[in-house]
Amino acid sequence: MQLEVDLAGQRIVVVGAEQASRRVLARYRAAGADVERVSGAAALHPGALAGARLVVLVESAHGGGFAPPAADVPAVAAGSGPAATDRTVVAGDLRERCRDAGVLVVREEAAAVGPGHVTLIGGGPGALGLLTLDAAAALREADVVLYDRLAPTEDLAVLAPAAELIDVGKLPGHHRVPQSGINDLLVRYAREGRHVVRLKGGDPFVFGRGSEELAACLEARVPCRVVPGVSSAISVPAAAGIPVTHRGVSHLFTVVSGHAPLSEEEHLHLAGLGGTIVVLMGVSTLPQLVAGLGRAGMRPGMPVAVVERGYSASQRTTAGTLATIVTAAGAARCQSPAVLVIGEVVRVGLELQGGATHLARLTESLAS
Ligand code: SAH
Repeated sequence: MQLEVDLAGQRIVVVGAEQASRRVLARYRAAGADVERVSGAAALHPGALAGARLVVLVESAHGGGFAPPAADVPAVAAGSGPAATDRTVVAGDLRERCRDAGVLVVREEAAAVGPGHVTLIGGGPGALGLLTLDAAAALREADVVLYDRLAPTEDLAVLAPAAELIDVGKLPGHHRVPQSGINDLLVRYAREGRHVVRLKGGDPFVFGRGSEELAACLEARVPCRVVPGVSSAISVPAAAGIPVTHRGVSHLFTVVSGHAPLSEEEHLHLAGLGGTIVVLMGVSTLPQLVAGLGRAGMRPGMPVAVVERGYSASQRTTAGTLATIVTAAGAARCQSPAVLVIGEVVRVGLELQGGATHLARLTESLAS
């Protein structure tokens, strides 16, 4: 069941212990509510619920009462049984009072109280739909999110309603927060007992320095979990309709970083493999790559595509061949972020789509 209630300006009483309630408080405050937190015992005081539109019971996942237990609910409020029973009685009593007063009650799960941890998340290539369910769940539970330029950032406030959002993104060539600084932040926040989410574009282990962040956490004995993401290496070509493999055309693909020019040996290896070559961070080194592959014997008519800003409104594909792509990309002013695809699969993709413009352009450049 999904109820839609406008909480803006409404008085909401959150019943639970401070630490356990922190995410719940942040979520309701983010919805514009006038939120007050009281402990289980205080909620039973006369007048505690006056004017409340909604009472939120923050209970432990194991059921049976508020978290953390004991000290929160004195025996006087709920009889003299063992602590867990007392809490249950308080919760039952509260529900009854709310029912009598016509106040809605919702139950929310308590945030874990204890040592913090880090979740390293791959956010995919930018489309919200390509964020995994695991990634969305971790964001929902996050106290702080450190994110990058390439991560799907537009919906972050909604995806991580209880979190402090920190942009540690880097513009190419301008490191805003150095990697060591990011590693330190992850460890520092986790040691404060927070659930830290590190959100990266694509997959965290594909040119994402995710393994360095994992190593920093492990070295500091901070628990760290990795949630893989949809890498741009496969998904951005797909966004342009280009399959990285195609039966009878290419049965392998190699993903290469183009952030620095490759060696002659690497050019030879790549050209000799005979499969698809996918290059990330390769716009500025495209001329060296093309020249190197040419020297290594790749034929000039090999189709090449540059797919810029995959999954954004301004996604664009520029197609050509090894002989023409540098001029074509220059004329189109291709820019990062872009994925380069080199191989016959480019022709397959453009044909599959029946992309008349691309095809015409490609045929034209193949002929020239
Ligand atoms: N971990 C990421 C890659 C990080 S390197 C992943 O798995 O996708 C950054 C490079 O990824 C960019 O320079 C670009 O080549 C590529 N990239 C990431 N997102 C992209 C997008 N939406 N469109 C085009 N290229 C993208």
